[in-house]
Amino acid sequence: MSTLKAEIVDLIRQEGPIGIGRYMALALGHPRHGYYMTRDPFGRDGDFTTAPEISQMFGELIGLWAAHLWQAMGAPPSFRLVELGPGRGTLMGDMLRATRIVPGFQEAASVHLVETSPVLRRRQAAALAGRDPVWHDSVEEALSGPVILIANEFLDALPLDQFVMTPEGWRERLVGIGADGDLAFGLASGREASLRIAAEAGTIFEQPSLALDIVAQVAGHVAAEGGASLFIDYGSARAGFGDTLQAMKRHAFVDPLAEPGEADLTVHVDFERVGQAALKAGAALHGPASQREFLLALGLAQRAQALSLKAGAAQREAISAAFDRLIAPGETGMGDLFKVLALSHGNLPPLPGFDLHRLPDQG
Ligand code: SAH
Repeated sequence: MSTLKAEIVDLIRQEGPIGIGRYMALALGHPRHGYYMTRDPFGRDGDFTTAPEISQMFGELIGLWAAHLWQAMGAPPSFRLVELGPGRGTLMGDMLRATRIVPGFQEAASVHLVETSPVLRRRQAAALAGRDPVWHDSVEEALSGPVILIANEFLDALPLDQFVMTPEGWRERLVGIGADGDLAFGLASGREASLRIAAEAGTIFEQPSLALDIVAQVAGHVAAEGGASLFIDYGSARAGFGDTLQAMKRHAFVDPLAEPGEADLTVHVDFERVGQAALKAGAALHGPASQREFLLALGLAQRAQALSLKAGAAQREAISAAFDRLIAPGETGMGDLFKVLALSHGNLPPLPGFDLHRLPDQG
């Protein structure tokens, strides 16, 4: 049993079963044994791969998106370029490299990163050497004045709570200890009176309070101070029910209770509710678009072609494979599964990447 699992079992023995949100927070963020606190999880030798790690094109296009936005904001002489959960710092590095050609943008931008993992902060410092990034523990600290904020695969890592409909009404889903002494899912004994949602028995409802709070905070800030933000993640464009908690280790799904602290734990992002939270906080919404629509509208195909012209045969193949992976539909690619939502100050024009069409009413 991992050290963290033993610690969680002890905690439950002492205090009783814990909510899914508390379990996720411990598994991912425990100061000594949390998944993100102890490792760099990315890439082929790690547990999972994200879009910026697949190809430099992803960050380059988002950099140019940000520069376009900055111009639409009236090219303020100073603004914060903020990233939430920057991983290895690859996306920010690619954004900054691509925007060197935009006069004034780099001089105006100060780089602010929200990151809790000391290991990843070190990776980010190395990737962004010379850019003097400022790190923050919380989103609130990072927001000041006009901002352009990017978050790729950040909301999916935030703890959420789950509720299950029973014949007696909604009950919270918990992590406790099963008959075999191992961690097991169970239900709280008392009814959850505050949830007023109709559903059939057995339905699971997820309550991503922290993610919605953070989105509302960012939306309220851009509505008041100017700027925009981009949230990219896997999830659905329409609100729905179901358990989306998943664990991944070495690029394969594993049991979320098997090895807390040793596997990545994520949830799908409900972009409809994220959008509602942002609207309520006063921001204008753009999208959600699928990642495919967004990247193609920003010129991914042209960028891939330009890079290929300068590349050798092996590199050309790698560029083409990355292009496919970023936009392919279905389970194997990221094109449909990943959605992109932007929030902005209401006086900004339509933002690039969202001028195609809205997603159909599904998934
Ligand atoms: N955006 C990166 C990394 C995604 S993984 C990429 O696309 O490659 C999630 C990132 O969010 C990691 O950097 C992780 O350490 C960070 N993170 C997770 N929970 C966090 C929290 N509560 N506050 C700040 N950062 C967090």
